[in-house]
Amino acid sequence: AIPLVVAINTSLAARNGMLVRDRIAMEQARNLDAIIFDKTGTLTEGEHGVVGMRTVSDVSQDDALALSAAVESDSEHMIARAIREEASERGVDVPDASGFEAMKGRGVRGTVDGQAVYVGGPNLLNHIDSEVPDVLADFADEAGENAQTVVYLVRDGDLVAAFAMADVIRDESYSVVEALHDLDIEVAMLTGDSEDVAAAVANELGIDTVFAEVLPEDKDTKVQELQDEGKLVGMVGDGVNDAPALTRADVGIAIGSGTDVAVQSADVILVQNNPMDVVRLVKLSKASYRKMQ
Ligand code: ADP
Ligand code: MG
Repeated sequence: AIPLVVAINTSLAARNGMLVRDRIAMEQARNLDAIIFDKTGTLTEGEHGVVGMRTVSDVSQDDALALSAAVESDSEHMIARAIREEASERGVDVPDASGFEAMKGRGVRGTVDGQAVYVGGPNLLNHIDSEVPDVLADFADEAGENAQTVVYLVRDGDLVAAFAMADVIRDESYSVVEALHDLDIEVAMLTGDSEDVAAAVANELGIDTVFAEVLPEDKDTKVQELQDEGKLVGMVGDGVNDAPALTRADVGIAIGSGTDVAVQSADVILVQNNPMDVVRLVKLSKASYRKMQ
């Protein structure tokens, strides 16, 4: 039989927009030492817009946008959406791409007019072996200082353009960090984005621990790292990329508008996509425990 208190606690949670898939995890939430948040779409709005671009001298901005939008045409990523939007706003003709492939946490690739085209972030650069031209390196440095996410366009092995995209921190994120600190919980952030952007967001929010440029397949090892320090760890995420980390965490929390995979890997689902519900979850768990004693 389900203990009465747990039943109450679960329906109370449901009334607060929390779906509890694992009651033990819900109970453990009161003891969390650290909570790791996915950055994009969880602490930030996840709605990137292209705020700047730079190309090498023999490539026009329109051509760079056309190639980029072509290989991004099948991607659901926020970055892809922003690039397609920019191309359409500028009235750029987007050619067809073939052989489209998403490289998780890195970017996308495809073939356009016989050219091999890649669009992706810093993790892509580690992956392909090409020099960053000075104009693009300077542009990327400046964008990084402004906490803008940079993605690169690679055509037939050459880096030919860079885009700067801005995302905004969600208003609620400030209160979340403050409230978790009040509860003596360490706040960490996990992202595939660059060190620059991660540091800027972390400083702004007062986040204690930052894991940046983490590939999707390594996200769960960061959860493990904190667990190895003897901490009980919660993880909050929304993406397919976050699923293994959600599973690894002692309390995996999916934010509601997230993907099915994230939702299926989580112990608790926050229906309303409000990160403040993470705080409510911990408080509800603490309150229920007190009642049990
Ligand atoms: P996060 O961990 O912040 O949610 P992701 O793991 O989804 O981010 O992506 C990590 C990085 O991979 C992005 O910051 C970007 O550099 C790159 N990336 C992922 N998907 C794309 C895409 N469709 N186009 C360009 N870059 C991408
Ligand atoms: Mg994400």
